[in-house]
Amino acid sequence: MTISPAPVDVLPDPRPIIDNARPDTAGGAFAHVYAATGKHTVDVPLTGPADVDRAIAAARAAHRDWKHVAPPERRKLLNALADSLEAHFEEMVSIQVTENGIPWTIASGHVLQVIEMLRYAAGWPDKLTGDVNAAWPGPALDYSVLEPYGVVGIIVPWNSALFCLGSVLGAALAAGNCVVIKPPEFTPFTTLRLIELAIEAGFPPGVLNVVPGDGAVGAALVEHPGIDKIHFTGSGATATRILQSAAVNLTPVATELGGKSPNIIFDDADLDAASFMALAFCMQVSGQGCINGTRILVQDSVHDEVVARLEQNAAMFAPGDPRLPETMFGPVINQAAIDRITGFIERAKDASAGTLVTGGSRAAGDFADGFYLEPTIFADVDPASEIARTEIFGPVMAVIRFTDEADALDKANDTDFGLASYIQTTNLGRAHRMAAELDAGMVWINGLGFPPSIPFGGVKQSGTGRSGGLAGIHEFSRTKNVWISL
Ligand code: NAD
Repeated sequence: MTISPAPVDVLPDPRPIIDNARPDTAGGAFAHVYAATGKHTVDVPLTGPADVDRAIAAARAAHRDWKHVAPPERRKLLNALADSLEAHFEEMVSIQVTENGIPWTIASGHVLQVIEMLRYAAGWPDKLTGDVNAAWPGPALDYSVLEPYGVVGIIVPWNSALFCLGSVLGAALAAGNCVVIKPPEFTPFTTLRLIELAIEAGFPPGVLNVVPGDGAVGAALVEHPGIDKIHFTGSGATATRILQSAAVNLTPVATELGGKSPNIIFDDADLDAASFMALAFCMQVSGQGCINGTRILVQDSVHDEVVARLEQNAAMFAPGDPRLPETMFGPVINQAAIDRITGFIERAKDASAGTLVTGGSRAAGDFADGFYLEPTIFADVDPASEIARTEIFGPVMAVIRFTDEADALDKANDTDFGLASYIQTTNLGRAHRMAAELDAGMVWINGLGFPPSIPFGGVKQSGTGRSGGLAGIHEFSRTKNVWISL
């Protein structure tokens, strides 16, 4: 099989978007490489602190009017953007596949979800109400209202830049904020194209700005006194740096971070469905997802049976050309990711952290030029080992035994993270008992749904932010209280 080359002509103008214009930058360039072939596509001009200054100034100027734009107009613009994304569906999927090598079918799902997220957010502007509060000593009237923060800096990661941006962009705009978006240097294209579509849909100059660049550009955004709130999606290590620099201006920061999510399979589960879901939730986007269930906790009595099914079905996640609709498993992002992930695998082998069931190597043959790994499964994994505790962000599954409900809970919660968790059981009481005790922002039982109406986010080192639902709107609104002595 020959891997299809990247269709470079589908990529948008990589220059930043500031005040609805496309200025040149003086910050150098990043050489983008297509993960499936390892071949260079285009150079992405990098922005610098001066561009960040200009973008924030444009957003601050635009916010004077944007915060007064009537709710129906905000709804109309958000729906127009959703319509436009729908009209450019194939193009956006193709850009996303080229951007980070994510398979076509999964990229299609992401674009569909972003359309839904924008339509969901479009319904909020005319439903944002306040409270009338008890007021004494009176006579007095007291009320509180939601108002936008002002200018929000949104920083997204490379693994699903469009999805992460889509999760928060609609809410930020619906709540009346202007935004400056910092996509990663690896994957700026879906963000740039989405904001081009927004401008075509009628969003006024300065409301949406994009400054592609590396961590230094992100840092310039976070440290800027003109930013009223930061929404960050990425790793815990970067979040620590961001929280430290945001402290200088006491800028509020919402964080959506990584995970080491448990998928708990009880012996009463439908084992066919549970084994399939265990593989799908772990191997999707080649393990490069924050919610991937990478720790599979399996009850002793069915451990060997489940491992046999996982081994048998792993072939469904055989490497393939991301542009083919049947491909479920693509490359990881770059050579650095290959080195990092194989490092985890080799150390696990050396330390006998578990039994290698399948995979464990870089994919060879037609896939050798791209950044492909084999789906890798370790069984009987030591819960204290590195592969059981660290976010690997690659296609590596750790299967861990447990005895009973209490043991499952101890092992599931024995982690620094608390993003997703999954339970496979047909026992309703057990499902609810576990859901109540798991230290995780998200609990999915016997399946996974992700409509824009549900509040998504983590606990512990998986972050503090919430996107989706009313909680997602509140993330971008602050409360103002008004007292009137009568
Ligand atoms: P990262 O932390 O390396 O980078 C994230 C973003 O921060 C990038 O745009 C990067 O350029 C920027 N950045 C880097 N240093 C910065 C600094 N000092 N100041 C400001 N910005 C800076 O993360 P990554 O490797 O791009 O993404 C993978 C991580 O993201 C994983 O941990 C994954 O679990 C997490 N993630 C979380 C969610 C979620 O919703 N919880 C979603 C997707 C990914």
